[in-house]
Amino acid sequence: MKVGIGFDVHPLKKGIPLYLGGVKIPSDRGLKGHSDGDALLHAVIDALLGAAGKGDKGKYFPDTDPALKGISSVKLLAETMRITKAKVVNIDCIMFAEKPRLSKYYGKIQAKLAALLKLKKTAVSVKATRPEGLGLAGSGIGCFCACLIK
Ligand code: MG
Repeated sequence: MKVGIGFDVHPLKKGIPLYLGGVKIPSDRGLKGHSDGDALLHAVIDALLGAAGKGDKGKYFPDTDPALKGISSVKLLAETMRITKAKVVNIDCIMFAEKPRLSKYYGKIQAKLAALLKLKKTAVSVKATRPEGLGLAGSGIGCFCACLIK
C-alpha cells in the first residue's frame, strides 16, 4: 500500500465554465487554466502520481504544451491511470472555496470520480470547506486529495 497527496489551486474568472471532478458546476465564473482548470482532478492526478512515485503532473502535462490547451482534465486523469498502472483503494478530497457553495454537488462529483477511477462510491470521499474570508484560496478554488493505492 502506498499513500499520495495532491494539491492544486486555480483562479476564478468570469464567463468560463466551472469544472470540478469532471462535473460542470453551474456558476458565472470558472477556473482559469491551461487545461479546463479542473483543480480537483489536478489534485487527484498529483495524488495518484505521488503515491506511485512517478513525480508530478507538470512532468507529463506541462502548461507550455499547446496540445494540452483547453483539454478536459478527464483525459489527463485517464492518461495518469495508464502511467501509474495503480489500483486505487480509496481517495479523500477537500475543495476549498469561498464561492460557490459546493455541498449540493458532492454526490455528483463523488459518482463521477468513482466512475473515472473505477471505484465504488464508498471509496470516494468528497467534501468542501470555506476559508472564512481569510483569502486562503484567493479569488479561486483550491483542492486537496489523498489517495491510497496498491
Ligand atoms: Mg492545475
